[in-house]
Amino acid sequence: MANMLSRKRVLVTGGAGFIGSHLCARLLAEGNQVLCVDNYFTGSRDNIATLLQHPRFEALRHDVTFPLFVEVDEIYNLACPASPVHYQFDPVQTTKTSVHGAINALGLARRTRAKILQASTSEVYGDPEIHPQPETYRGNVNPLGPRACYDEGKRCAETLFFDYHRQHALRIKVARIFNTYGPRMHPNDGRVVSNFIVQALSGDVITIYGDGSQTRAFCYVDDLVDGLMRLMASDDSVTGPINLGNPHEMTVLELAEQVIAMVGGKARIERRPLPQDDPTRRCPDITLARKTLGWEPRVPLAQGLEKTVAYFRHLLDEGLPV
Ligand code: NAD
Ligand code: UDP
Repeated sequence: MANMLSRKRVLVTGGAGFIGSHLCARLLAEGNQVLCVDNYFTGSRDNIATLLQHPRFEALRHDVTFPLFVEVDEIYNLACPASPVHYQFDPVQTTKTSVHGAINALGLARRTRAKILQASTSEVYGDPEIHPQPETYRGNVNPLGPRACYDEGKRCAETLFFDYHRQHALRIKVARIFNTYGPRMHPNDGRVVSNFIVQALSGDVITIYGDGSQTRAFCYVDDLVDGLMRLMASDDSVTGPINLGNPHEMTVLELAEQVIAMVGGKARIERRPLPQDDPTRRCPDITLARKTLGWEPRVPLAQGLEKTVAYFRHLLDEGLPV
């Protein structure tokens, strides 16, 4: 009984997605009670299949643009499609998910006095003019372009978090997540890591958008989840925003070469047009995360890619839809 009362009730919105499903698993492993809320737009029950039988896990189909009435101690607000293909599919719903979703999650936090963490993004920096990006940089977002539904939705969500903090003394945490990869990435979401691995495994051409000189820095999902949980556990005075990502910057072409070398075979690289507003350079400055959370990524790219390749190889071998 004492154990039941001391156990934290943790809500993860977007819990059936790529990052959310890893987070739910870690939260359960730490002894928490976990409520996963998802409308399965880009997430799936497959992602949480191994958790569904767990006595401390519950999954609820729900769209976060509508209010939710549950009792919780902590909220991780992850619900939002994250890849350009998915967030541009229904841009109005993307903005609603970020903005109405944040208002509903913050309202829930206010009523229950729960601590609440927002999964924000490096996209709040847009196509950055400062490199690497520190949290103090205010960004260079095109508010009218095809990425704006995501970027501006996430920026508005951050504004709401800080207004609820000032106006209603809510305990908030804002994480700015940079490119993250690992098993359970959606195979069809067009993100660079999943695309290159699936293409290399299937013997298709590797599609490089533009000349491949644009940079990104890729964080393995286990490291990211560790950062999110450290941020949630941090002192109430730590609100963020705080960058969480791997500072190992590389070009898209270098990533392609590394994936081809790892998978083997004779994959051919083919150039495609660069999408509009595609950021030229991106890399996190994680000084603040190091200092405040004692956090930095531990998994080297080669090791993380091996695990991700193994995951997609299994999907393809099983003949699962990719
Ligand atoms: P994902 O698409 O796999 O997960 C998002 C989840 O939210 C999915 O399960 C989806 O079904 C759910 N969802 C979407 N709209 C919803 C709605 N209206 N109501 C309820 N559920 C809804 O993406 P992910 O990569 O796991 O990203 C999780 C969070 O992290 C997102 O908020 C994303 O913006 C943020 N983020 C991710 C990355 C990354 O590289 N993966 C980078 C920066 C920020
Ligand atoms: N990209 C690419 N080929 C692909 C998919 C993506 O060259 O098949 C590029 C894309 O143009 C971008 C980078 O890889 O410059 C990262 O794209 P992703 O969609 O993974 O993430 P984001 O642009 O949101 O950082």
